[in-house]
Amino acid sequence: MSAHVVLLTPPYHAGVIEITGTWPPLNLVYLAGALRNKGIQVEIYDAMSLNHSVAEIQARLAQVRPQVVGITATTASAPAAIATLKAVREVLPTALLVMGGIHATFCWEEILTSSPWVDVIIRWEGEETFPELVQAWQDGRSFRTVRGIAYREQGEPCATEPRPLIEDLDTLAPAWDLLDWDLYRYRITDSRLAIVSGSRGCDQECRFCSQHHFWRKQYRERSPESLVQEILELRDRFGVEMVLFADEYTTKNRERWEKFLDLLLEAQPGVMLTMETRAPDIVRDQDILWKYRAAGFIHVYIGVESANQATLNALQKNIKAEEAETAIRLLNEQGILTECSFLLGHWEETPRSIEETLQQALRYNPDLAHFLFLTPWPYADLWQQVAERVEEWDFSKYDLVHPIMPSRAMSREELREAMVRCFKVFYREKMRQYCQEAEDSFKKRYMQKSMKVLFNNSFLTEFLAGMKK
Ligand code: SF4
Repeated sequence: MSAHVVLLTPPYHAGVIEITGTWPPLNLVYLAGALRNKGIQVEIYDAMSLNHSVAEIQARLAQVRPQVVGITATTASAPAAIATLKAVREVLPTALLVMGGIHATFCWEEILTSSPWVDVIIRWEGEETFPELVQAWQDGRSFRTVRGIAYREQGEPCATEPRPLIEDLDTLAPAWDLLDWDLYRYRITDSRLAIVSGSRGCDQECRFCSQHHFWRKQYRERSPESLVQEILELRDRFGVEMVLFADEYTTKNRERWEKFLDLLLEAQPGVMLTMETRAPDIVRDQDILWKYRAAGFIHVYIGVESANQATLNALQKNIKAEEAETAIRLLNEQGILTECSFLLGHWEETPRSIEETLQQALRYNPDLAHFLFLTPWPYADLWQQVAERVEEWDFSKYDLVHPIMPSRAMSREELREAMVRCFKVFYREKMRQYCQEAEDSFKKRYMQKSMKVLFNNSFLTEFLAGMKK
């Protein structure tokens, strides 16, 4: 009989990414599909979206009694994931407990040393590794031959050789049917939400980011045909009304991207689409931006990070400061909502430089802005440079809204106060703009709902109280 595997999300809530909706765990959907294809019984338990506590997870798994439990985590959710596996170990003493995700991929040694209840770490993508691991465990074989994992050999943490990345992403079969679809909604449009992945990897090398390390500087794309097919299937089989692209770099290849847009225009799925991409690509695509909107893109997120070219260069952001402003204008002209992030808290940050960033955000005038702290993960290139200044070692606070280090001129408390002020000033101006707009447009309704969510459901709720009146 095949092993029974439960794939789990950790009970982590920071009031940041989750404020606009509940997000399907795409990585677990892919893993579940790969396990099932090898004849392994698998279920997805999205404890995060269900808002279950560690005690509830423990009770449920004690009842289900799977032989293998896999949990995924980012750096911010890693402490919750490790604590959850500890509780699971108490009720499933002989189960194989597995952890995956970007944090565990790089911090495997530390986790295996400090958390004896974690048996194995899956490093990098897991669709080929996880089924092979389960098979080896069931057969009682050594893990030494399973590429892409870390485990203990005679009590000592060790890692096997990296597994080559999957060549053809179109061969993967996400198990969408294993989700409880009633859970997944985008609050702003009150729509059933799916997340898809059209590519994996990024060829950029921003110093605060680690995606290029996780994907080993490789970039792989799915065919436009399979991506359109998936969107149609999500709509027809599961009633999906809105799709978010999880790609690290959605629009890298213009030819492929335009083909995808053309196929969507032909198929007219009537599904709302949203994604993150780079400002230079929006400028590059200005002659075909109308296709973005006509194909269904209603909302695009751009990482602006800074108006200061020297800061952008120091972060290896590889964009020109003015490109972001142009990209926002071009998207606005097409009626596409723009959302941008601005990074605060680098070493040279002062009250004056934060004010300049705020003024830049007001001048660029995206529909939504986020003022986030520069938070290099412990495995990012930037980490080595800043590690000695880091004051926050609780990884659950690595959520971009808690400063993990002071700047040369400002304490962490001062940085946090300055960040809250940026949000307040920016959204006061947005409220003024949208209150003045007479037309009851889609954009106006979208913005009103977005601000309501920000005021009522986010980490900012306590700070913004009073502004909504
Ligand atoms: S921040 Fe974005 S563009 Fe830069 S390396 Fe990370 S994924 Fe790529």
